[in-house]
Amino acid sequence: MSAPAGRLGILGGTFDPVHLGHLALAEEVRETLGLARVLFVPAGDPWQKAGAGVTPGAVRYALVERAIADNPWFAASRLEVDRPGPTYTSETLTAIADAERAAGHEPDLWFILSAEALAGLPTWRDPERVLALARLAVVPRVDDAEDLAAAAARFGADFPGRGDRAVFLPGPRLAVSGTLIRARVAAGRSIRYLVPPAVAAAIREYALYSPPAEPAVRTP
Ligand code: ATP
Repeated sequence: MSAPAGRLGILGGTFDPVHLGHLALAEEVRETLGLARVLFVPAGDPWQKAGAGVTPGAVRYALVERAIADNPWFAASRLEVDRPGPTYTSETLTAIADAERAAGHEPDLWFILSAEALAGLPTWRDPERVLALARLAVVPRVDDAEDLAAAAARFGADFPGRGDRAVFLPGPRLAVSGTLIRARVAAGRSIRYLVPPAVAAAIREYALYSPPAEPAVRTP
């Protein structure tokens, strides 16, 4: 008989780079739902050529590790960055549930996602399996078109009788995104107070997001 280890939150994403929006989101859900841990799962490298602009998974993972180092409730998972090819959420959740059981815990998984991402759930591979493996903690982004009541109503329509598998939380709604951070670094602007200091330092160290240096103008 396995013992419960408490609720485990799972936050997947590209994390290119991880920023204060992610950290505030994870902390808010942890506190509100009484999660024992939150696992950050950076996505693997895109296998389609179209996604070739994404920072390598090993680097995105290293930034996540630095970002969460001072929070004892947060951990990072290599599950997706170490896998070649696309990874489906149902597979990731299965692997996490298996790992929990192997560690002697009864899995109690909470998958954290935005209201916008929830709208796409019916198109995911095996959404019923996702709902069977984890409950959903749905948090709006600052720019989400739908309010929480509308998102909850749509979830009820998309998955009749599964209303107990999702909770809808107001969330911190910080207007920060990976796109914003990359654009600011590329423009030579400050990202202080938008990412943890350790992440800003790592972005400098790995020389991420900067446009390639202009070739020196040669004068005759
Ligand atoms: P990009 O701009 O590159 O798409 P992102 O930060 O929006 O980056 P991800 O790194 O993939 O996207 O985000 C991971 C998860 O965190 C997603 O569920 C996303 O909706 C959520 N998230 C990201 N930023 C915020 C934020 N500021 N507030 C709430 N949720 C967020």
